[in-house]
Amino acid sequence: MNKTIHNPHLSSTTSLLNDLRSTPNGLSSEEANQRVNEFGKNKLPTGERTSLWHLLLKQFKSWLVILLIAAAIISWMADQLIDSWVIIAVIIINAGLGLFQEYRAEMAIASLRNLIVKVAKVMRDGKLVTIASELLVPGDIIVLEEGDSIPADGRILISKNLRTTESSLTGESVPVSKNENSLSKETAMADRKNMVWKGTFVAGGYAKVIVTGTGLNTAIGNISETLVSIKKKRSSFMLKTDFLAKQMSVIAIVSALILFLVGYFYRDFAINDIALISIAALVAAVPEGLPAVISIVLAIGAHRMAKRNAIIREFTATETLGAVNTILTDKTGTLTQNSLTVSKLFISGETDFTVSGEGWLPAGNIMQSNTIVDIENNDAVKKILAIAAISNNSELQHNQQNNTYELIGDPTEGALSVLARKGGINEENLNAYKIDDLPFDSNIKLRATLSNYFDDQELFITGAPEQLLERSNYVLTNNGVEKLSSDERVQIQNKIAEWSNNAMRVIALAFKKDSNTSINTNNLNDLVFAGLTGMIDPPRPDAKLAVEKCKRSGIRVVMVTGDHINTAIAIAKASGILDGKNKEDVRALTEQQLSLLDDKEFDETIQKVSVYARLTPSMKLRIAKRLQKLGNLIAMTGDGVNDAPALKQADVGISMGIMGTDVARESSDVVLADDNFATVVNAVEEGRIVFANSRQTSFFLVTTNIAESVTLIGSIIFGLPLPLTATQILWLNLVTDGVTAMALATEQNHKDLMGSSPVSKKENILNKEVLPFLYINVIIMVGLSFATFIYFIDESIELARTGLFIVMAFSQLFNVFNLRSIKKSVFE
Ligand code: ADP
Ligand code: MG
Repeated sequence: MNKTIHNPHLSSTTSLLNDLRSTPNGLSSEEANQRVNEFGKNKLPTGERTSLWHLLLKQFKSWLVILLIAAAIISWMADQLIDSWVIIAVIIINAGLGLFQEYRAEMAIASLRNLIVKVAKVMRDGKLVTIASELLVPGDIIVLEEGDSIPADGRILISKNLRTTESSLTGESVPVSKNENSLSKETAMADRKNMVWKGTFVAGGYAKVIVTGTGLNTAIGNISETLVSIKKKRSSFMLKTDFLAKQMSVIAIVSALILFLVGYFYRDFAINDIALISIAALVAAVPEGLPAVISIVLAIGAHRMAKRNAIIREFTATETLGAVNTILTDKTGTLTQNSLTVSKLFISGETDFTVSGEGWLPAGNIMQSNTIVDIENNDAVKKILAIAAISNNSELQHNQQNNTYELIGDPTEGALSVLARKGGINEENLNAYKIDDLPFDSNIKLRATLSNYFDDQELFITGAPEQLLERSNYVLTNNGVEKLSSDERVQIQNKIAEWSNNAMRVIALAFKKDSNTSINTNNLNDLVFAGLTGMIDPPRPDAKLAVEKCKRSGIRVVMVTGDHINTAIAIAKASGILDGKNKEDVRALTEQQLSLLDDKEFDETIQKVSVYARLTPSMKLRIAKRLQKLGNLIAMTGDGVNDAPALKQADVGISMGIMGTDVARESSDVVLADDNFATVVNAVEEGRIVFANSRQTSFFLVTTNIAESVTLIGSIIFGLPLPLTATQILWLNLVTDGVTAMALATEQNHKDLMGSSPVSKKENILNKEVLPFLYINVIIMVGLSFATFIYFIDESIELARTGLFIVMAFSQLFNVFNLRSIKKSVFE
């Protein structure tokens, strides 16, 4: 077999299957393993890891080191050999520390990258399985669905309404339609409608594709060299630290200059001595390590978040998370367990059916008034089960070893699938009954399949109950199809209200005769309403505690869901988002109600009301945008294709690692490994630690630097001898400072952090809260230093300098302990 298949878009699908020695049912795993060896893994070089040598060299590149080397040479020429050795030692220790720090950060980043494994749905040994997309080989048959990231280049074998977003390749953000038709002549890449490309996304529809290129043998592989240099975004906090570092540098340069000028012209020190001291003061006072220390704080924070199931994709998000004051969260899966199970069934004119069994295990009974229903002789139930099974794109996988079932696909569809199996629809290949399929669309809140399961060709629809009821004119009863009377309509509405009030997710089923060959979205009316299913989805037990924690720490939790308003309210109450304490709190609004408000009312409303139901993705985006405009820093959770814009818009976009789509994941800053709301809150807590550590480290470095500059300049102006030697200055600042700053940067013990409100978006690092401490600290350090120096000066200058050195070093250490928590003193 050839390494590359030339022009797969021009071959017929049968000859491609031949050339790639594959079948419509895919490869055997044996063959696939062999091909991995032959073709290599399906991955692109990341090229982001910097080597140890590279890092080491980087430590010597800074101009500060050059200055230090100059200082060493000056002191060597001035015959102060000890000084020059100490300076060399300082250079080495400093480089070592820098190396250690950056290496640690690199390792943290690298291990995070390994946590984000991409998967693909592939046919192996005749079965659909999920594997790491690295292991795909040419000839594999893969299945693509809405929201999937396309794992390799491939030729489409069959497709339904497939649309892909190829902006990563072409820059074009509008989805393009694709199909399996052969092309007769050569076309540009963008026009090869029967091909899909690695690194692009499925915006909608379904396809089976044969892989024609993997790894570097893909369209994106050809241009991957240009993609390797991924820009790293700088957060506002990093910009602030950079700014602070610059400010400090200016202060350092000015002080060194004053020191030199006053010392040389006014105090008549020897040029050697004063030049050395000035250089030392300059080198010492520039907080060149600050940005590096901040990076490490971020890296360590990201690492700790990963341990608590929040995987950071965008590094700066660690710090932004700490400042979040509003969380917009999904309901299904995030606040609830997402183990949807149909527990009730409603057919017009009948007593409610109950369904036993739990989770994805298709074992249980459909019962009515405590007796098992004879489904063979119940046409209405039979119809409902068929709709549930066929208007469905989920896949239940049986793990024979421990008899468990796993779901591939949407949990709502999974629950319907399980219901159908409990009712006896066990056929393996239900896809054979599908003529066309319209995947779930959250704008119209339904999905549909054109099917020939029964004698007549019919359209099967499942979706949000109000939507389907509105589209229906007939109703299915045990006497057959009847006109839907207004009485029955009200009855159905009452049933929907009753179930959703009990926190159930209610999905309706409907059908109609349809002889078209494809589904037309304008033709989803005049339906026969078949019935309702009520699904239980218990709230997550830890969600309530997490919501409470948010409230205590000044973070607002807002539920934005596409589900029914009653279900939303029921879950909001169970999870404590609605706790009845606040009068406005008891309100919940639907998209329809929101759309009636003018802009001003809208802004006022979204600041008060915390539960929104039946939302479309565009309304979620609007709420997010307006809240940001009103000065909030928001984190937002999402899972679907349509959530991607809002995830990008949010200050921190959070996607679901288990049930989310690839598109959502790749538009987000943080991926939740467990889809759990409590994890979001844990990440916020870690974010606050990051913020506090960055702040106290900056504060510490600034304080000690200023205190030293003031001491030096003060003594020279007041006619005292030089209070420190150049080497002492260097040692104090590069060694004592460097080590202690690291300790501060990694402090984890901030018990008080979730007890207070988030910091404001605009706040500077050294804000009003800490500035007074800075002044007091500087005054105390300078005062003590001078007192010691003057006390010992009559005995000898060496003794006085040593005394001052010790005072400085110890006050730095004292400062470290004092700053471990800005709000508490060292004595606490
Ligand atoms: P959410 O999942 O938060 O409820 P969505 O916008 O995804 O919001 O869904 C809106 C509504 O559409 C759901 O409440 C449900 O009634 C219905 N729905 C969701 N997913 C499906 C699906 N796969 N098949 C049929 N109906 C669905
Ligand atoms: Mg959903």
